[in-house]
Amino acid sequence: MRHRIAVIGGGPAGLTFARVLHRHDHSVTVLERDPAPDARPPGGTLDLHEGLGQLALSKAGLLAEFQALSRPEGQAMRILDADGTVLRDWQPRPGDRANPEIDRGQLRDLLLGPLDVRWGRGVTEVVPGTQDGVLVHFADGRQETFDLVVGADGAWSRVRPAVSSATPHYTGVTMVETSLDDVDTRHPDLARLIGDGSMAVYGVNRALVAQRNSGGHVKVGAQFRAPLDWHTDLDLGDVEAVRSSLLALFDGWAAPVLDLLRHGTAFAHRPLYVLPVSHTWAHVPGVTLLGDAAHLMPPLGVGANLAMLEGAELAESVAAAAPGPDLDEAVRAFEEQMWARAGRWAKITAAGLERLVSPDPTEALAVFDEVQPS
Ligand SMILES: Cc1cc2nc3c(=O)[nH]c(=O)nc-3n(C[C@H](O)[C@H](O)[C@H](O)COP(=O)(O)OP(=O)(O)OC[C@H]3O[C@@H](n4cnc5c(N)ncnc54)[C@H](O)[C@@H]3O)c2cc1C
Repeated sequence: MRHRIAVIGGGPAGLTFARVLHRHDHSVTVLERDPAPDARPPGGTLDLHEGLGQLALSKAGLLAEFQALSRPEGQAMRILDADGTVLRDWQPRPGDRANPEIDRGQLRDLLLGPLDVRWGRGVTEVVPGTQDGVLVHFADGRQETFDLVVGADGAWSRVRPAVSSATPHYTGVTMVETSLDDVDTRHPDLARLIGDGSMAVYGVNRALVAQRNSGGHVKVGAQFRAPLDWHTDLDLGDVEAVRSSLLALFDGWAAPVLDLLRHGTAFAHRPLYVLPVSHTWAHVPGVTLLGDAAHLMPPLGVGANLAMLEGAELAESVAAAAPGPDLDEAVRAFEEQMWARAGRWAKITAAGLERLVSPDPTEALAVFDEVQPS
């Protein structure tokens, strides 16, 4: 008899888990709160690392399709100071496929493939240890039981309370995101400034990062240290008021850099939250977590990569396990492996955020020099 498995959340973690199980001819129920795949903008571009996200895609049998879709040229990285002086201008070598970029929407569609996702199924609570297994409560009042429930429902997971009392806390760094469309046609000077990949400008306790997506779309993140309630006198829905507030905050920065904010179309406030570094829990039979639900960390290019590799690894372990105690042992062993790797990355990214948005902008440059191959 096969296990009854549900994964809550159709992000990178949940879809990779489901896709690898599907490859092993194992059925899985994917429960996603969004009413449809394109119910909200999918977000910016992701770089998938050879030993993490790309390894996960190879376990899903999707590496060749990823290589056809992804943008190796998007690995380019330029660093400027607040005066607009280019400090570093790193270009990938021909054939370098260590960390190519892919739009999140393209990655989602690639992973979705033949999967049968139940859209519009928001989970409110998960109760382990009932007579018939793990009970899942839905926002519409329905309930269903499974042998294994995998929480891949992101930062504000509704599955997490079934195994852990940890909740995300604010890092002290917030981000306001905006974007530009058709940058090559509408803003050719900015297109040249950004280049083929990403551009980051570091100042005192603030940074501006612009990242090229496909089709001339650019995402811009203004990051700064501020109390969580920094915007109490500001209407975040008023585009021009937010723009003025950001231009005041980045006052004195080079005009071409500030054009990224002047031409941004809309603004979204995204304070950066994290779970405690090395978040673990006492194993609970029938429930586990993946990705941001397990180890939310600063957005420094690794969260989706870890989420996907964990999804793939858990799926392989589950597919190989017999029902009953064997399944539980497989999940327990997976958790140990996930905690060790995620704990290392949580420390690296926490230290990285401290140095990238810091009183001393030369620290940000030092981080770049440490991680970027010359
Ligand atoms: C600005 C920014 C840039 C980033 N850049 C990168 C990068 O370049 N590389 C990288 O590796 N990582 C990056 N990250 C991190 C990355 O986005 C996350 O780590 C990754 O999305 C985590 O995947 P996930 O599947 O665990 O969670 P999510 O992507 O959050 O997916 C969770 C899914 O669960 C659904 N859901 C939520 N609650 C419920 C519920 N109650 N019931 C049912 N469904 C639910 C959601 O709708 C969503 O579809 C970045 C993050 C940010 C904020």
